[in-house]
Amino acid sequence: MPELIYLDNNATTRVADEVVSAMTPFYREHYGNPHAIHLLGRRSHDAVEAAREEVAALLGCDPTEVIFTSCGTEGNAMVIRGLLDRHPGKRKVVTTAVEHPSVLTLLRTLERANVIELAIVPVDREGVIDLDAMREAVDDETLLVSVMLAQNETGVIHPIARIAEIAHEKDSLLHVDAVQAAGKIEVSQRALDADFLTISGHKFHAPKGIGALAIRRGIALQPLWYGGGQELGIRSGTEPVPAIVGLAAAARLARQSLPSYDRVRALRDRLESRILANLEETSVNGATQPRLGNTASIAFHDTQADAIVRALDEQGVCVSAGAACHSGSVEPSSTMKAMGKPLRVAMGVVRFSLSRYTTVEEIDRTISIVGDVVRHKTIV
Ligand code: PLP
Repeated sequence: MPELIYLDNNATTRVADEVVSAMTPFYREHYGNPHAIHLLGRRSHDAVEAAREEVAALLGCDPTEVIFTSCGTEGNAMVIRGLLDRHPGKRKVVTTAVEHPSVLTLLRTLERANVIELAIVPVDREGVIDLDAMREAVDDETLLVSVMLAQNETGVIHPIARIAEIAHEKDSLLHVDAVQAAGKIEVSQRALDADFLTISGHKFHAPKGIGALAIRRGIALQPLWYGGGQELGIRSGTEPVPAIVGLAAAARLARQSLPSYDRVRALRDRLESRILANLEETSVNGATQPRLGNTASIAFHDTQADAIVRALDEQGVCVSAGAACHSGSVEPSSTMKAMGKPLRVAMGVVRFSLSRYTTVEEIDRTISIVGDVVRHKTIV
């Protein structure tokens, strides 16, 4: 078995060693319930509050505005459902055609059930949101505008500050799904003027099963469920202290390593430019746009992406065909469809997503393996 090259970091990441070290004492020694008044409880409580400060620093908001969730999907649902339950009168929601299913499928389901009126703003071939269409869609009836900061398949970064202006002009609230952006670019709730911001730990070297939601002070959400009233009463359930401590450690590492993220971008650019130079009939999705430095969405025209992904897997290279959640499907991804990519391009889109642990040796080996696999048609 060749040594693995992991280039599927937009799907999930390896937990950083420092994160595991920070978490371990909270399994073995400091295992108290953070709401207990004894010593072990107080230790857990202090750790959770220190973690809240660390996560707030990553998200550019106040610690009192941060609550811990289990994942990005939960944070997104908490905002959408929690807000609708609070405002039974005002029911229009505006989103875009390239959102993650945790937003788009939920909103479509609510629309089908006649709970909301939904407007879906299109994107162009490079994945750029049509701001004129957004301006037209947001009206006085709009309760919420939900837009991701960075797209999971292409890495394209959306102009959130301008979308915030459009939303707030009409007194609508803005939810930003920053799950793919956190740890890869600076994310600031204040600078973006977002009312809600969701992140997920496993996308930036914290464990799976922990995320956070920033809620602008003064905005109320109806809880999805009831219980002990933890996390401002919005997210009842005993806090997973080790995971929260891990999220904070990952947030600290992410902030420390952001200034050197250009190294990741340079590796991504090397991967893209050499694959495009080596192989005809290839293109990069979103290449003309501001993009995450770690994401390469490469179309191998007239091929089947899942066959390439399988062939690369046999050589020890882990990548995905479109979004990981759609892997195994032979349909082009909904993002590629929304971008209006022709079928011969959309069917062959492979996503390579790097991390700050990716090495130049791994990239050079990947370039060579991709060349062999595609040129010699070892794909089946
Ligand atoms: N939002 C975006 C943009 C994502 O890419 C993902 C996961 O891929 C999610 C939300 C869901 O996050 P989680 O896996 O933590 O539920």
